[in-house]
Amino acid sequence: MKPFEKCPVCSGELETRRVEKLLRGGGNTVSMKVIAEVCLYCGERLYAEDVVKSFETIRSKLKKQDFSHLKTLGQSFTVEKDWPNEAIQPTT
Ligand SMILES: [Zn+2]
Repeated sequence: MKPFEKCPVCSGELETRRVEKLLRGGGNTVSMKVIAEVCLYCGERLYAEDVVKSFETIRSKLKKQDFSHLKTLGQSFTVEKDWPNEAIQPTT
């Protein structure tokens, strides 16, 4: 089951954890909890191959505005262009 034994970045120990993952596409965002191998040393997250394929599927669905198998969870916002602090900019 484990696709990785050690962290490929730093050779650190990996631990199976449920992490929050955000995917963006077409101005939309999907958040989900995903099982990942997380490096205890550098924090690198490793996902199984079929999970990475699902991420690609979700990203392409978002770009096509195809929301089947996705459910609405609140609303996403960005700031307007005229936000008073210039260091803060809208994402799109
Ligand atoms: Zn690492």
